[in-house]
Amino acid sequence: MVQKNLIDGEWIAGSEAFRNINPSNTNDVVGEYARASAEDARAAIAAAKAAFPAWSRSGILERHAILRRTADEILARKDELGKLLSREEGKTLAEGIGETVRAGQIFDFFAGECLRLAGEVLPSARPNIGVEITREPVGVVGIITPWNFPIAIPAWKIAPALCYGNTVVFKPAELVPGSSWAIVDILNRAGLPKGVLNLVMGKGSVVGQAMLDSPDIHAITFTGSTGTGKRVALASVEHNRKYQLEMGGKNPFVVLDDADLNVAVEAAVNSAFFSTGQRCTASSRLIVTEGIHDRFVAAMGERMKGLVIDDALKAGTQIGPVVDESQLKQDTDYIAIGRQEGAKLAFGGELLKRDTPGFYLQPALFTEATNAMRISREEIFGPVASVIRVKDYDEALTVADDTPFGLSSGIATTSLKHATHFKRNAEAGMVMVNLPTAGVDFHVPFGGRKGSSHGSREQGRYAAEFYTTVKTAYTLA
Ligand code: ADP
Repeated sequence: MVQKNLIDGEWIAGSEAFRNINPSNTNDVVGEYARASAEDARAAIAAAKAAFPAWSRSGILERHAILRRTADEILARKDELGKLLSREEGKTLAEGIGETVRAGQIFDFFAGECLRLAGEVLPSARPNIGVEITREPVGVVGIITPWNFPIAIPAWKIAPALCYGNTVVFKPAELVPGSSWAIVDILNRAGLPKGVLNLVMGKGSVVGQAMLDSPDIHAITFTGSTGTGKRVALASVEHNRKYQLEMGGKNPFVVLDDADLNVAVEAAVNSAFFSTGQRCTASSRLIVTEGIHDRFVAAMGERMKGLVIDDALKAGTQIGPVVDESQLKQDTDYIAIGRQEGAKLAFGGELLKRDTPGFYLQPALFTEATNAMRISREEIFGPVASVIRVKDYDEALTVADDTPFGLSSGIATTSLKHATHFKRNAEAGMVMVNLPTAGVDFHVPFGGRKGSSHGSREQGRYAAEFYTTVKTAYTLA
């Protein structure tokens, strides 16, 4: 059965369908999904536009109830939805279920936020005049998401968009339509009026582009590659529309001589290799001071030997496959580039055979890397990390910040002085002390600076910045 697109409250099959393939076992077809056309995208935008006036004025209890019911259903079905996610994306079952729980928590959080909408009342600078400051929805929000967090990223964009009274056109990544279809189905059954949330699965160059080109989309929130992010930005400037971009990272993880070695190794392995290194917050630059360097590298090698890389759904798997063939090629190309550049492949990097055909790669660790190498400057987006040796903390900080990106920065140290200095001076939107660079909460701001992000933060109460526009009203008493 083909899973359909949702346009103006109707499930629409369209003329084409595409297959969702399990990267742990390419013989396993997860499902078939309707491929939307540019025409479908335009119909979805028109539906969202028509639904906006009523939804933007809907009662907070109605919105609260819909988001709350959605949260409850996602949490009640976490094992089944987590399995679907792991099957289509390739992260382990524990990671898939964890991400599903997070999506439920996000809907729960924004269900609560519906009940806490507030403004300000101030006296004017002029006598007998009052000033009210309120937040209003932006209008039709376009949501474009990547494949690496198939349920959490759609959740953290859809939930606030609806909470603050916007209508939505949602285009998920083609590689992982299953999780997106499931949450749209849940929201639809939870009672959303027709046209408020529209799902258009399909190609970025067709459906995504039709969204970028539409004057009727008032805001676009995008997570994906730097190249596509630039297209979103340029098209949005053309239409004078609000936009928010979350793009790449080349996140540093600093290990100082005084670090607790176990803490440093656990955090580095998690940052670099968990979720197959396919997180924008993953760390691929391990910047290590010389006093601990050799011990750290030896301990990383030992720890990496024990990693279980296998089918994402198998019990005991710690790292699943790479998401698809082209991403696997990108990873192995960068491993070749690192060797050509003179870095030493200290561990891993081989393709692996498992019981089923899939995109299995032994996580790779380079040593003797420099920060000038391409493997240290460009986002690889796979289980490939390099160790960069530095003299001391000052050099470590300089190297950590010497990157076009600025999403997440980590440090392993027992020094309060260095931890405090790093928190203040790391050029990143998120800083982690003795913790992996990845793994963030659902209720606090997420985002970066420099080439990683543009616009206001996602998640938590900071999401209101993007999904609302401020009105200042004056009244003569
Ligand atoms: P990734 O490397 O994560 O696949 P992309 O930037 O290619 O990064 O994809 C992120 C999202 O952007 C996907 O949903 C994709 O379909 C969409 N996309 C790709 N090209 C375009 C485009 N020209 N216009 C709008 N969206 C696009």
